[in-house]
Amino acid sequence: MKDQKIGTKCVQAGYTPANGEPRQIPIIQSTTFKYDTSEDMGKLFDLEASGYFYTRLQNPTNDYVAAKIAALEGGTAAMLTSSGQAANFFALFNICETGSHIVASSSIYGGTFNLISVTMAKMGIESTFVSPDCTEEELNAAFRDNTRAVFGETIANPALTVLDIEKFAKAAHDHGVPLIVDNTFPTPVNCRPIEWGADIVTHSTTKYMDGHGTAVGGAIVDSGKFDWMAHADKFPGLCTPDESYHGIVYAEKFGNAGAFITKATSQLMRDFGCIQSPQHAFYLNLGLESLHVRMPKHVENGQAVAEFLEMHPAVAAVHYPGLMSDPYYERAQKYLGNGGCGVVSFEIKGGRAAAEAFMKKLKLAAIETHVADARTCCLNPATSTHRQMTDEQLAAAGIPAGLVRISCGLEDKEDLIADLAQALE
Ligand SMILES: *Cc1c(COP(=O)(O)O)cnc(C)c1O
Repeated sequence: MKDQKIGTKCVQAGYTPANGEPRQIPIIQSTTFKYDTSEDMGKLFDLEASGYFYTRLQNPTNDYVAAKIAALEGGTAAMLTSSGQAANFFALFNICETGSHIVASSSIYGGTFNLISVTMAKMGIESTFVSPDCTEEELNAAFRDNTRAVFGETIANPALTVLDIEKFAKAAHDHGVPLIVDNTFPTPVNCRPIEWGADIVTHSTTKYMDGHGTAVGGAIVDSGKFDWMAHADKFPGLCTPDESYHGIVYAEKFGNAGAFITKATSQLMRDFGCIQSPQHAFYLNLGLESLHVRMPKHVENGQAVAEFLEMHPAVAAVHYPGLMSDPYYERAQKYLGNGGCGVVSFEIKGGRAAAEAFMKKLKLAAIETHVADARTCCLNPATSTHRQMTDEQLAAAGIPAGLVRISCGLEDKEDLIADLAQALE
């Protein structure tokens, strides 16, 4: 059954119980695993055999769910992390070290912007941010000899710009480095970046994948397509012996299909310990089982709300890639044929004060820093998630101070529109 469709994978991929085993993924709530001899366990420590010994490194529940996400994205290997932040940090730090350089789209999640521009800078990792709409020349000019990765978001949170994945992948590959794409907003139901040339895909599973506002989590998927050994000089961590693992060369021992995730698990998870708990992985899987049913409804509600707001006299601008008036409409048609997500952003006439007054009046849509769950919520990024950024940085990221981001949930769209209408009056 190789060519299963996305919905079947959402429901069934990753875990196939044998005769008499639990139908649902079991929660293996155990920190440790028992062995008969030290020799048996030693083989696991040496990465000579695969198996479980300590949940900080691997746990069966997490592995089942990671395997499902790998199948959904069309990757060869995946791992869960404690959060989306941990996923993006691990994905970058797995191939960057002091003296490395990252090229990133300027239109990304505020947390990831801080991670790259502030925290990773303290580790001696430099970065250059480029507009998601830069020309090929501008993009190529951002690379340096020490560039090790390119990073972008399929649909940026909260700017809702759409990444030209093929263009960014080509530039990355022309410079011998992988493209990492955060695919949190569309989810693999609406876009599979690997099919467009991305090498590594990350997720904040906290959002649509969980979908119910239940568990913070993240995931990293490897396409298995990037040829590390062909660029061995750039990626010594994957292509030369790891002295902390008895001299294993990950790219040799695990090949392109397994090297990236094996290194991130055995080195970064070992040392940083950003594990997702098995209980959270179980909740995540419940979300994944209905992801293909929920995403079309989020898109339907997002589209209806965007169209309503666009016609409203109190609204200055609406950003939603599903609107024909949106600058990203064409690109969304290409990469997001079934629609993108349920998040819409718009600018109310009257700026920050008008936005705050409007949000206070909403009855269904709650004010939350969250997005992408079953209940509609909204946020003013300039006073919350993006408050670390200067006005110039906000402008570069496409986030004016009066912007309101609304995440359309799974309610009936007529009720959502009625709520917005009364608050806009
Ligand atoms: C929320 C989010 C993150 C961070 O994920 P957490 O699970 O909150 O750590 C990263 N990228 C995007 C696009 C997000 O929306």
